[in-house]
Amino acid sequence: MKKLIFATNNSNKLKEIRKSILNLEIISLTDLNLNEDIPETGITLKENALQKAQFIHNKTGLNCFADDTGLEIEALNNRPGVYSARYAGENCSAADNMNKVLQELKDEHNRKATFKTVIALILDNSNYYFEGAVEGEILTQKTGDEGFGYDPLFKPKGFKYSFAQMAIDQKNQISHRGIAVKKLIEFLNNK
Ligand code: IMP
Repeated sequence: MKKLIFATNNSNKLKEIRKSILNLEIISLTDLNLNEDIPETGITLKENALQKAQFIHNKTGLNCFADDTGLEIEALNNRPGVYSARYAGENCSAADNMNKVLQELKDEHNRKATFKTVIALILDNSNYYFEGAVEGEILTQKTGDEGFGYDPLFKPKGFKYSFAQMAIDQKNQISHRGIAVKKLIEFLNNK
């Protein structure tokens, strides 16, 4: 089985990706004993995704991919977007980020939001990108215990449940990351 490194320290992302990609062995940074923080200082998802993949590629010389994800909320002029991870400040928790969003949308009727992911793949020294997006809305309170990050606040369009009320497989079928991963798999299958 072919191997590919997934350059992330996020165990939830790793779990999702391993459930989606069955015909490749996904090597984690923990498997490689790489425990450093990966810098993400870009101003777009694409820049950050490449920066993460490049950081690990430079250390290992191996083929790898990374993703960067942002939640764009229409009524907040598409914030937090690329700044989703530290929206409530340095070292903030997922709960801090969600509370900030709920506070900012307190009197807002327009709850439309889009989750976006860009995957950057470094394969044989060339860079490739795969994008995924899913539209939905921000709930008025945190709902569900599954998933991670902003999942308890995000209800995808056409569904009754938040991402945090879905099993991983169901989220993977419709999510921003799931869509980007399908494109990555298709690309790798045709290589
Ligand atoms: P990053 O891609 O790791 O930089 O993630 C940016 C922010 O979005 C972090 O706060 C993550 O917890 C959050 N995030 C990333 N992917 C998801 C997801 O699939 N669902 C909910 N939140 C996510």
